[in-house]
Amino acid sequence: MLNEPKFKKNLVDWFNKNQREMPWRETSNPYYIWLSEVMLQQTQVKTVIDYYHKFIDRFPTIADLSNAQEDEVLKYWEGLGYYSRARNFHTAIQDVHHNFDGEVPNHPETFGKLKGVGPYTQAAVMSIAFDLPLATVDGNVFRVWSRLNNDTRDIKLQSTRKAFEKELQSYVESDAGTFNQAMMELGALVCTPKNTLCMFCPVQEHCEAFLNGTVETLPVKTAKVKKKHIKQHVYIIKTQDNEVLIEKRMQKLLNNMWEFPMYEAEAEHQINSILNTNIQFSEQPAYKLKHQFTHLTWDIEVYLADQVINNKDEISLPNNMKWMNLDEKEDYNFPVSMTKIYKFLLSH
Ligand code: SF4
Repeated sequence: MLNEPKFKKNLVDWFNKNQREMPWRETSNPYYIWLSEVMLQQTQVKTVIDYYHKFIDRFPTIADLSNAQEDEVLKYWEGLGYYSRARNFHTAIQDVHHNFDGEVPNHPETFGKLKGVGPYTQAAVMSIAFDLPLATVDGNVFRVWSRLNNDTRDIKLQSTRKAFEKELQSYVESDAGTFNQAMMELGALVCTPKNTLCMFCPVQEHCEAFLNGTVETLPVKTAKVKKKHIKQHVYIIKTQDNEVLIEKRMQKLLNNMWEFPMYEAEAEHQINSILNTNIQFSEQPAYKLKHQFTHLTWDIEVYLADQVINNKDEISLPNNMKWMNLDEKEDYNFPVSMTKIYKFLLSH
């Protein structure tokens, strides 16, 4: 088992010399630290930095974000994906603003009850912002800790997370934020999934997987469930005034974001029954793309209306549809798949 104090010292010394510069590492504002942790879920550091700056420029305080409309918040998240993160964060910040005097609660249980705050975010924000003794266990930590202990328990199991949190507890009794960040940074820079840099590892002398030659086999995780594929048809209807029909999503996935009308392929030409029209579309898709979600892939085919609409006023639109001038796309929140289709439309 690990030589505890020396392991921590080797790791933290390395971190203090080698950590990457990140804007949220230069602040002690819990709101900014929390925002960065939410943005970093499933998203790379280099992508997040720009979004983070723009977000805090526009919403510098909890009150600013709390008072903002959801549409605008989503606009600042556009392109980052996983939009429920933004919605949950916005709701949680409103909760903090109205019920906690605008101060992020520095009590783990209270903080953990806010919308969208799971065990990882709870531990990260509490340890980094308030130095409370909670161990973060994210993908990087799962990998590093499995390898250090040559531990073959399945990291997909909740019981493994609980066990790791418990085993790491003694290391976070002091200076928790630094230790947690050091573990995650080691996983990101040295103890990587492939091409692991054991030769440069500051804690190699403590590592049982290195000793046993099992680094590449760890961590153990059960095979991924095969993703479901859904065929989607998108219908592009334009007017003679350079407008295109868009629809606000009512579904849980990407809720409240705008899209070109899109329906599952089985619901063929549903658009005509909604609009009470008889618009003809190209027989072959004009454009095809795939869009991946965590548990789901959309196989999207885009069909263009054969003719432009001359009298758009004759078509009565449901409340969640409207005509968007092609020059005004910036006024709307579009998910990444729809932005790709928009770019296709501009180039054709
Ligand atoms: Fe990871 Fe290799 Fe370091 Fe072990 S020695 S912690 S496997 S980088």
